Parts: sequence; C-alpha cells; structure tokens
Amino acid sequence: MTKQGKLIIFSAPSGAGKTTIVKHLLTKFPELEFSVSATTRPRRGDEENDKAYHFISKEEFLHLIAKKEFVEFEEVYSGTFYGTLRTEIERIWKKGKTVIFDIDVEGGLHLKRKYDGQAMAIFVQPPSLEVLKERLTARGTDSGEKLKERFIKAEKELNYAPRFDIILKNYDLQTACAEAEKLVKNFIANDCIA
Ligand code: 5GP
Repeated sequence: MTKQGKLIIFSAPSGAGKTTIVKHLLTKFPELEFSVSATTRPRRGDEENDKAYHFISKEEFLHLIAKKEFVEFEEVYSGTFYGTLRTEIERIWKKGKTVIFDIDVEGGLHLKRKYDGQAMAIFVQPPSLEVLKERLTARGTDSGEKLKERFIKAEKELNYAPRFDIILKNYDLQTACAEAEKLVKNFIANDCIA
C-alpha cells in the first residue's frame, strides 16, 4: 500500500481565482503536484488532455464510478461530472509529493473530511458576488443558461466558507498568491495550518 502523504485543497466558486493561485503555487513549490481530475465536460481553450483534466465520456465516467475508482465525484453542473481518481492521489504520494487540488466547494469539503489530519483546506473568497459574476462573464467561456447555472452555484457556495480551515481573500491576486505561498510553505515544512 502507498504511504499516505499530505493534501492541499483549494476550493471556491467558479471565477474566484483558485486555478490561477494553484498554477502559481505549482511554479513555486516542486514538492507539489496537481491532482488531475476526470471530467465529462468538453475541453475549453488551450486545455490539454491529461494536464488540465482527464477528458472522458459520460459512459467512461459511469464505468469508473461503478468500479469505485473515485475518492469523490460530483455532478457539478447538470449533466457534467467531475471527480478525483484514487490512482491520481496514490501516483503523487508515491513520488513523495503533496497533492494540490483545484476542486469545487462540496468536493473540497468531502476530501477534507476523508483525509482529516492530512489535509489543509483553503476557501478562496472573491471580493463579492457581483465581482464574481463580472469575472465569469468577462471570461467568456460560458454563456446563457450555463453562465446562469454558474452564478446560482457560486452564490450558494459562498456560504460554505466557514467550513474550511482557511479563508483566503482574493481581492488582489498578487497579495492572495503571496499569502497562499506562506500557507503552503508552513504546511509543507511544519504540518501547520495557518
Ligand atoms: P471548470 O469547468 O470551470 O473547469 O470547473 C468547474 C468546477 O468544478 C470548478 O469549481 C472546479 O474546481 C471543479 N472541479 C474540478 N475538478 C473537480 C473534481 O475532481 N471534483 C469536484 N467535486 N469538483 C471539481
């Protein structure tokens, strides 16, 4: 059996900036490796298969659920599944690295419960719901009903912040990245949260 390691979970509503922060941390800490989730959503922009996500069909996803290959999974948006594969975490731990996640709020809380004592769970907080909506709209990756669905989910998710170990304010990206670096450094070096 693989020796268990540590996990760092970044969760937030879509558009709060967690992906940017996680990408920044990956450039700073060679001790970290990104957990590539599986998803049934189509590729977006320049996303590479097996780097941003494992892009798979719904049939394949359902098959993996049946085989109990997921540590957690969710229908994040209606008809669109996302999930963390057990093999992904084990692959990273085998290298002696810490797993870093970019995951939705419910998935993040699920992992926090499951790996209690090994995980640091961070909620990335945007300045306001209005700013979040502006960012999601400006991103231009979703429109119409899909965008509306992201807004509704985001509003609900903002209420989950207190359930995380840490709330990281992302009002200014540079400040948030610097703060995230401090948190990660401390957690890796001392097992210390905050
Ligand atoms: P997007 O479509 O914008 O890449 O992701 C939509 C949401 O799904 C984001 O909040 C993202 O963090 C989340 N997500 C990505 N991978 C996973 C996963 O493995 N499990 C869960 N529960 N959510 C995920």
